[in-house]
Amino acid sequence: MGMMRQYELVDRVRSYNPNTDEDLLNRAYVYAMRAHGTQKRASGDPFFAHPLEVAAILTDLKLDDATIVAAVLHDTVEDTAATLEEIESMFGPDIRRLVDGLTKIKKLDLVSKKAAQGENFRKLLLAIVDDVRVLLVKLADRLHNMRTLHFVAPEKRLRIAEETAEIYAPLAGRMGMQELREELEELAFRHIKPEAHETITRRLEEVTEREGSVISAIELDLKEKLAARGIQADVSGRRKRPYSIWRKMERKSVSFEQLSDIFGFRVIVDTLEDCYRVLGIVHTTWPMVPGRYKDYISTPKQNDYRSIHTTVVGPGHSRVELQIRTDRMDRIAEYGIAAHAHYKDGRTTELTQFADESRAYQWLRRTVDLLAEGDSPEEFLEHTKLELFHDQVFCFTPKGRLIALPRGATPIDFAYAVHTDVGNTAVGAKINGRIAPLLTELQNGDEVEITRAEGQAPPAAWESLVVTGKARAAIRRATRTAVRRQYAGLGRQILERAFQRAERPFTDDKLKAALKRLARTAVDDVLAAVGRGEMFSGDVVKAVYPDLEPEKRTASGDPKAASNGKGWFELRKGDNLKFKLPGETPGANAIPIRGLGGDLPVRFAPDGGAVPGDRIVGILTPGEGVTIYPIQSPSLAAFDNEPDRWLDVRWDLDDKAPQRFPARIALNSINEPGSLAQITTTIAEHDGNIDAVAMNRPNPDFTNVTIDLTVWDLKHLSAIISELREKRVISRVERVVG
Ligand code: MN
Repeated sequence: MGMMRQYELVDRVRSYNPNTDEDLLNRAYVYAMRAHGTQKRASGDPFFAHPLEVAAILTDLKLDDATIVAAVLHDTVEDTAATLEEIESMFGPDIRRLVDGLTKIKKLDLVSKKAAQGENFRKLLLAIVDDVRVLLVKLADRLHNMRTLHFVAPEKRLRIAEETAEIYAPLAGRMGMQELREELEELAFRHIKPEAHETITRRLEEVTEREGSVISAIELDLKEKLAARGIQADVSGRRKRPYSIWRKMERKSVSFEQLSDIFGFRVIVDTLEDCYRVLGIVHTTWPMVPGRYKDYISTPKQNDYRSIHTTVVGPGHSRVELQIRTDRMDRIAEYGIAAHAHYKDGRTTELTQFADESRAYQWLRRTVDLLAEGDSPEEFLEHTKLELFHDQVFCFTPKGRLIALPRGATPIDFAYAVHTDVGNTAVGAKINGRIAPLLTELQNGDEVEITRAEGQAPPAAWESLVVTGKARAAIRRATRTAVRRQYAGLGRQILERAFQRAERPFTDDKLKAALKRLARTAVDDVLAAVGRGEMFSGDVVKAVYPDLEPEKRTASGDPKAASNGKGWFELRKGDNLKFKLPGETPGANAIPIRGLGGDLPVRFAPDGGAVPGDRIVGILTPGEGVTIYPIQSPSLAAFDNEPDRWLDVRWDLDDKAPQRFPARIALNSINEPGSLAQITTTIAEHDGNIDAVAMNRPNPDFTNVTIDLTVWDLKHLSAIISELREKRVISRVERVVG
């Protein structure tokens, strides 16, 4: 096959578009020829023959100059020294955009090698492409590559053929380009199932030899009958392609011998009325096969396919399938959206004759929108607007699994999208083989590999950095688990001490035996409950050793009765104490929080608030406003099933006007004179403002003290807590969050 010459390309375009910009075509020809230079294809042909063949395929579709030029240039940026800047300066921004789109898709081909999810990949294509002409060039490119696939190394062939069958042929179908789709499928089939292809082809030959005369008999008969009624019709019979035969055999689980309609006829007429007249003649001439009549003229397919289908029993009892349609319907059936370019308001119009370019472009844009429509109503809703895809990025796992994420997503989101465990143990990422920060914004087509370390818990700070709900929920859960683990550790310390005091051995097994009495199901539950102050160590000792002498209690009696269940103890006459000091608590309007719209009233969780440095969550109570909780707040569990109420909020602090924020701490102090004074003095010395103190004595050794105070931020609060921990009279200090 000789390479197409410069004048031949121009002639081809001029044959359907007399106003073509010949100079533009010529410049593109020369530019691409020089760029590809002496490069060769696998066939041994000069590489430049390839883009020319691609352009030729597109001239068959009568496409506009920009598309043809983009086809000529489509491999220059990726494969030669040519640059997009140079192309823009020589051919303008429109063509640059098209070539850029094609270059991007080509880069994806490299990644998609391992991706076997056709539907997702088609979406990925649509996410990247915003001009349908890019897809048309890409399909023509693929068609030429498939036509010359036998030159490619055998080990690569199967992969390319599968990709064609899974991605490009269905895409062509979605675009209504049946002819292109069928050729791609046929070529792919030949390489994917070579034996099946050969067998079917051989059988088809045999049948044609035996019954081929039937085709011409029917053709003649039909033509005569139509002419007798004064109908101008173009009748053509053809044998079905091996792939469509094979698919039918697969779908209906029938053998080749059982297949009846191997021949198909197409009747092309001038007008819509003629379609139905032909149908009447056909049905009165031969018996029709029930259930095979379909009227896609009154109800077109989603890709705009219109035609009448019917099957009749023809001469020699062979079943014959007929498609009846007008010339225009036929062009749309064959060329799909490419054919639309030639029609406007029912009249034939060349794309280049659109009143103005922008209208033509609008049409193309609308068609891409249509393309995105799937077959199911859900898909239709999901993809009606192509912009939806632009909100997403599509990335790959190293094994080629395609992960769709919202734009702005990071490798952390990616990791959680793959699996919660992967997210929880992620410590690093490689993007396209290079080590990258976990907070890198992912781009379409990125291949992401997550480095993991077992036993790792996600830093709580991630929660405010991820963009996917799944990642956020998982981090929140994991963070809560980590906090729970801390409480359990604390509970163990308290229990060890309590058992020591009771002079009884403490083991997990012994505790396990007492679980029922404690109304818990796991040792960890007991430890965490003790650590949180929900259960008292004395009660645990008693449950494990029921025969033990009860510890002497103070006058306050049963500590559980004194607890209101919130870690806050009501004042009881005599030995409990609760007092409030005059102090300043920030007013609602002063709370510096970002991420809230409107004038919602904002407040902190009442039982232990949030301080700057805390990761925070807003919970919306309709009609009331927003309550800010630290992320580790146990109260948040109550809202787990109401994701709509969760607001993503951040601190918005003014460095110039620092303010104090409310916090609550709980501590255990040894019962000795002056211990409370030591506590309050320590807090005051470290710039903490005490608002309220509540005390309760659950057992003879300890006093539980709960202090509401105001601090500047988390660092300040942590400093005060660690100072308190230094005190000999204090056995435990914890922050309380509501
Ligand atoms: Mn190419």
